[in-house]
Amino acid sequence: MSETLQTSTENKTQLDHVIYSRDVVHKHSKATQNLLNLCIDYIDYCKREFQAGKDVIWTMGMGTDTAILYSLGIIPASFTEIGRLCSGEAVVLAEEFFQVPNETCAMVKSDLGEFYLQRGKISNKIFYSSKACEPYNVAFQLLEDVGYDVHVMDVGFGPRKARRERVENIKKHYRDEYLKVIDWAAPGKYDAEKLRSELIFYNKIQRKIRTVFNLRAYHPTYIGSLPMMLLLMGNTHYFGKPLEYEATIDKLIEELSDLKPNEYHDEKAILCWSGARGQEFNIFEAIDEAGGAVLSWNIPNNTVHEFNTEIDPIDALVDFELGDLISGTTENACRYILKDMEKYGATGVILYGYLGCSFATIDIELKRKYFKEHDIPGLSLIGSFDVGTVTGQVTTRVRAFIEMLAKKREESKIA
Ligand code: SF4
Repeated sequence: MSETLQTSTENKTQLDHVIYSRDVVHKHSKATQNLLNLCIDYIDYCKREFQAGKDVIWTMGMGTDTAILYSLGIIPASFTEIGRLCSGEAVVLAEEFFQVPNETCAMVKSDLGEFYLQRGKISNKIFYSSKACEPYNVAFQLLEDVGYDVHVMDVGFGPRKARRERVENIKKHYRDEYLKVIDWAAPGKYDAEKLRSELIFYNKIQRKIRTVFNLRAYHPTYIGSLPMMLLLMGNTHYFGKPLEYEATIDKLIEELSDLKPNEYHDEKAILCWSGARGQEFNIFEAIDEAGGAVLSWNIPNNTVHEFNTEIDPIDALVDFELGDLISGTTENACRYILKDMEKYGATGVILYGYLGCSFATIDIELKRKYFKEHDIPGLSLIGSFDVGTVTGQVTTRVRAFIEMLAKKREESKIA
């Protein structure tokens, strides 16, 4: 794809939106431009490294998996990012070659087709945790038939309430599964201290990201909602370049700290984004252009929890995985979102999921009900994964929602 400067209305693919954000919207911020470059180059970088003989493994990118791979000297290629390469061709391939039903989630279809197109070019190894998504569980079995070596970590959800003995059994099972992953990825290479260092690094990165959140609350228009979402997207895999990712966050903190109190501080409708990380990037552009700013995030990238680096690192992975109380649709998760919204002054929530995802449908409905009971306006959006630009109807709904929040804000000032 050629990196040419385009106007917002000409934008077509996800990559076009990122390039537009870098070259037009964020000309003022070197750190944001670095971040977007890291994002743009991620999958190509994995391809270059693989072709130069380095170890690369496709993975989910949830923190535990990436820490393991980095500690073994392996570059994690997050398969949620393979969508960057995505085209209509990948979806057609999934439907026609793999015979995936049309109504299947667009993310699974586009990943499946893209994995087929990229076979042999980036990595033929895929690491996946079975608890993440049932359609993926089935889809990955199909990839074994076209030459991929798929290792599935065979686990379920952690118990919310269970007897102590059952919790201990589940922990032991998780532990054994992590050891099997290590044995599959790099036999004989496990080094507990290297894994501990990765966990320490991860914790440090999350603290820095939280600092960015806090500083951005004072200058919401300095960095737009799209680069913020992409910054979060890299919080576990660091776009394959941990040190550059850290340096970019440091630079962003420096830039934000250098701003004067009223710079980039226009009045905005502050929003929470909850659910899947949107792949249709012009929704984020529409939010910013309509006078909104997403300051509160409730997406799979968890920057709140940290690893316990004082205990055995495998046990720390298990505790991290089972101790997550803010994801999903539990009462705890909803309470956490409300608290976070309060912290940033968010007055509305965008609930986002992908077409064909049964999890998202239920999640959106339950959360919508919860927010309604707490008198918080919500906008539900069901998006697609395989196109970069959404229809005008979606952006019109986003604009109308933000205008409604702005009006409410004005009315409350008068009252
Ligand atoms: S959007 Fe839903 S169905 Fe699709 S991959 Fe994610 S969890 Fe699975």
